[in-house]
Amino acid sequence: MLHQPIIVFIRRIWILGVLTVFIILLIGAGSMKLSAVFSSNLKNKVIVIDPGHGGADPGAQNSGLKEKDINLDVSLRLRESLESKGCIVIMTREVDKDFYRPGFVLGRMAKRSELDKRVNIATENNADLFISVHTNSFPRPNTYGMETYYHLKSSPGKALAELIQKQLTQLQSDNKRKSKAGDYYLINQSKIPAVIVEVGFISNTRERNLLLSNDYRDSIAAAIGTGIEHYFNVFPQGIQESVQTVSQEGPPFNSENTYKLYYPSSDLESLVPEDRHINRSLWSKLTLVQKSNLVLCELIQGPQTVTSIRTIAPKTKILSLTIQNGIATIDFSKDIRDDFPGGALLEDITIKSIVWSMTQIPGINAVSILINGEYGDSIGGHILLDHTFPIQP
Ligand SMILES: [Zn+2]
Repeated sequence: MLHQPIIVFIRRIWILGVLTVFIILLIGAGSMKLSAVFSSNLKNKVIVIDPGHGGADPGAQNSGLKEKDINLDVSLRLRESLESKGCIVIMTREVDKDFYRPGFVLGRMAKRSELDKRVNIATENNADLFISVHTNSFPRPNTYGMETYYHLKSSPGKALAELIQKQLTQLQSDNKRKSKAGDYYLINQSKIPAVIVEVGFISNTRERNLLLSNDYRDSIAAAIGTGIEHYFNVFPQGIQESVQTVSQEGPPFNSENTYKLYYPSSDLESLVPEDRHINRSLWSKLTLVQKSNLVLCELIQGPQTVTSIRTIAPKTKILSLTIQNGIATIDFSKDIRDDFPGGALLEDITIKSIVWSMTQIPGINAVSILINGEYGDSIGGHILLDHTFPIQP
């Protein structure tokens, strides 16, 4: 009789203990799941989604279907997709409305101010990307296929458009369209990387029927979301527009169709050039930033010759790349420092391999190296990156 309360007490403690362990496990699992979801490069990226048209402006119409309604529905699904990846999403509209000034629905200036209001939402919110969703229509009913447009002079816009279009065409195996530069007011006015995604032609019977399906709309939203995710995986802090004041005529070819990457020889005594092949007409279409980015990405990949030595740690990412007055400023992720295997000699030759490889590109005369956004850091602790490194003789 006397022992009973003690047994009850012990039992309670035991139950309490099990419960505590259970709760700790539950919290642990929960936070693991949360960090898995939000550990991507999309975390806290501000994306403005603009469902095209709305209110007094229905956009394209066919068989009772209005563009403004499809745009809004796909955009709301895209918001869901991006929010699940950790983005902060701002919608220019969440309902069927327009941005006309009261009494100014007609005329060119009316449309301009309507579109300005949409772009301003991105500017005011300091957004990272502007995605305008539209639906296409064309007089020829057999025309079909999703399309993505960017501003001709925007290299980040182009990169984003290409990555989104790649995902969209995976939904349409017969869609051979590439992303295109388009002279659209929205993307022309935008100060941040902007694209227009045309999710299909309602003038094409097959595509119109597909666009009526919720599953298909979900898969479009998911594809755009994946394209945006890939953009921030390649450029975690976006690509900054460059001011190209130096002529970028001519490719960096030392011979007909090759450029060179410089890697140290096995004894670290010299830099040995390795040829990389490139299509000359492809090269001529790239902007200076894109050319630099290509050479740098290749350099990070490492040498193909077994006797040459890798310089930049393979995990290193290019956080940003800007070119101004002939100086390329490269912001590397901290992996270039944290995974650096060598000493002072390799450090010196690593910087040289970057500078030699970059300055062979006409238009680049010097290189400035940042690590994780910091100026004046060091790759191996011997050389301070507090000055620009000029072209090597
Ligand atoms: Zn439209």
